[in-house]
This record gives sequence, structure tokens and C-alpha cells, in this order.
Amino acid sequence: MSRGLARRMLLWIVCISATAALIATSAQLFFDYRQDVSDLEKGMRYIEQNQLPGLADAAWNFNVASMQVQLDGIGHSPWVAGAIVRYGPSQQAELTTGQADRDAGTIYTFPLQRHGIVVGAIYIEPNLRTLYGRTVGRIAIVLAAQTAKSLVTSVCILLLITWMITRHLTQMAEFAKSFEPGKGFTPFVLRRERSRQDELTVLADGLNDAYARLHRAHEFEVRHNEILTQEVALRTAELRDAHQKLAKLAVTDKLTGAFNRFGLEERFAAEMLRADADRSPMAVILADIDDFKGVNDRWGHQAGDSLLQAFTAILNGLVRETDTLVRWGGEEFLILCPQTSLQQAMALAETMRASVEAHHFPIVGSKTSSFGVAAWRPGDTTDDLVKRADVALYRAKEGGRNSVCPE
Ligand code: GH3
Ligand code: MG
Ligand code: MG
Repeated sequence: MSRGLARRMLLWIVCISATAALIATSAQLFFDYRQDVSDLEKGMRYIEQNQLPGLADAAWNFNVASMQVQLDGIGHSPWVAGAIVRYGPSQQAELTTGQADRDAGTIYTFPLQRHGIVVGAIYIEPNLRTLYGRTVGRIAIVLAAQTAKSLVTSVCILLLITWMITRHLTQMAEFAKSFEPGKGFTPFVLRRERSRQDELTVLADGLNDAYARLHRAHEFEVRHNEILTQEVALRTAELRDAHQKLAKLAVTDKLTGAFNRFGLEERFAAEMLRADADRSPMAVILADIDDFKGVNDRWGHQAGDSLLQAFTAILNGLVRETDTLVRWGGEEFLILCPQTSLQQAMALAETMRASVEAHHFPIVGSKTSSFGVAAWRPGDTTDDLVKRADVALYRAKEGGRNSVCPE
């Protein structure tokens, strides 16, 4: 678990509390020092009021032994490091107690008076070591106490921040990282002993709300994409069907359903190439209904159309899989027969002719047809081949119709 945040907060707390402690301690020590100085002043005043009169008496009486005793008494005060008494004429005589240093910085000087007459003077060197010692002692205690307090407080704060905040933030970060739009979405739950309403709850709710919306948006997008894909597939299939229908329509004769001339073009060219390459036989049959104009004239154009459809059906039933039946124009049809010799084509044409003759057409009754057959020769163009079949057909017509003529 990352503790960067907790550590940084701890560092700040330690710095702020240490600064605050330093300021508070300095103020405290300053006031304590002032109190100590005041105590020192009080000690000096006590000596002045209670001990100096006795000393002045002894100096007046030149009772050196008593002076020394009283001076030692003063020297025993904790506030006194040492003292010097000068007495006698011109104050040349001197008594000392403790470690008096006349050159010390702070010296309390009091005159010794008896009945208003100065009989001597006392120079007291205050015991500043006591003063400083107490201050230093206090500093050490306050610093140690503050340091211990800061350490304990800081560790407690670190543990509290980690327990109350950062572990939840880390869990939220793990939840956010583990979120994948395509996967199922389980809302984030704060792992706390008791459920409470606080900033963490608000954050967790916000997180759940944001991810729920993200999840829904993703699901919507997926559904939308599925629908779009289905729609595109449907439209593509429709388009392909339409295209196929259109392609078929383009090469199909509307009335009879046979190929039209465009439909033949490509096949014809391909079969010619193959025949040329294989030296295999190929034949073309041209079929024409005899006296078709008379049908139109007698029974009407509609009857002529029906006859054309019935005629196509008869031929369609007789052509082989490899043959191609084409409406060449009007009531004239072309049958392209690959891998077929002239004789085979003649036989096929004869079958067709006989079938048409034997058929009973509605309205019209019986009807005959004529056939011209031509076989492919090396070097032929499609026009050459059709032309020869056309000449053969012409001869069949000339010969009295209802017949099959080879080229
Ligand atoms: P022949 O025996 O010499 O072949 O005489 P025919 O009458 O069959 O030939 P002709 O070329 O004189 O007449 C063909 C007629 O076919 C003329 C035209 O009006 C008719 N025709 C052409 N296409 C259609 C069509 O799609 N439907 C109908 N009903 N008639 C058509
Ligand atoms: Mg005709
Ligand atoms: Mg004709």
C-alpha cells in the first residue's frame, strides 16, 4: 500500500508541531527566566532588609568575627555566589565569603549604614549559575517532553490517516484500475467496520455513479454497434440481391426470360476462344417461327407474346446445360452449342422443330418453325458464324419452312 500521502502529511504535522512547540517553549522559558530574575531580586531585597542591618552593627562595632559570621550567612543564600564587605576608615578593611569576583558583570552593591552613617559597603555577586542551571534544566525537560509528545502524536496521526483515509483511497484506486467497460460492474464498497456518512462515502458514491454511467454508456454503444452491424449486413445482402437481379435483368429478355444479345456477347466470345484453343467443335442454331406476323395480325399482339413465351419454353426444355438460348430479335432465337458438331446441332434443331410442330399452342393451335445451323470454323468471328446460320435459315424458309437447313 502506498503511504506517500500519509508520510507527507506526517512530515508537515511534525514540522508545524515542532515550530509551534518551539515558539510555546521559548515563550514559557522567557517567562520562567523573568520569574527567576524576579526571585533573585527578592532574594537580594531579603538580604538587604534582614541581614544587612546586623552586618552594619558589627561593622560599626568593628566586631570582625561577627561580621564574618553574618557575611557567611549571606554567602549561604542560594542566590549568592560570593560577597565582599569593606569597612573601617576609608573602607580599606575587607572580608570575603564564597567566590566573590569583583570584575563579575553583575554586582549588587549596598552601603552599610548605622544611625545614618555609612560604616562600610557590601558587594554581592549573584549566583547566576543557579539561574542559568534552572533555565537549562527546564529547556532540557521541555525539549524532551515536546519531542516525545511530537513523536507519539505523529505516529498516532500517521496510523489514523492510514487507517481512516489512505487505505480507502488505495482501494478506490485499485477498483478504478480494475474497471473494464466490457466486464460486469460490481459497485465499490468501503471496507469499514461501521457504515458512516462522510466525505469518503460521498467519494465512493461519486465513483460508483461515474462508473455505472460509463458501464451503461458502453452497453448502449455495444447494443448500438450490434444493431448497426445487423443493419449493415441486411442492407449489404439487399444490395447484393438487387445487384444480382439487376445484372440478370440486364442480360435477360423481359418477355421470354431467355438471354438477350448482351447476355450472349460475353459467353459467345469465351466459347469462341475455347473452341479456338481446344480445336473443339461448336455450333449455332438460328430458330424462327414461321408466319409469326400472321399470328399478330389474326389474334393480336398479346397472342403473339404468349406464343413467343410458349415457343421459348419448348426450346428451353430441349437445350442442354452447356447450351445458351438467346432471343436474337423479334420471333427469332439463337442457340449457342459448345462442344457440338454440325450433325449434333442438326439433330437438336430437328428435335426442336418436331416438338414445336407437335405442340398445341393456346389460341393459335399448331405452329411451325424453321432452323438454320452452322458449325464454327477456325478463324471465324461471331458475326461470320451467325451470318452462315442466318443464310441456312433463309434457305429453310425458302425451302418451304418447317425445316432444318445446315449451312
Ligand atoms: P416468316 O415466316 O418469313 O418468318 O414470316 P414472319 O411473319 O414470321 O416474319 P416477319 O419478319 O415478316 O414478321 C415478324 C413479326 O414479328 C413482325 C413483328 O411485328 C412481330 N414481332 C416482333 N417482336 C414481337 C413481339 O415481341 N411480340 C409480338 N407479338 N410480335 C412481335
Ligand atoms: Mg418468322
Ligand atoms: Mg423473323
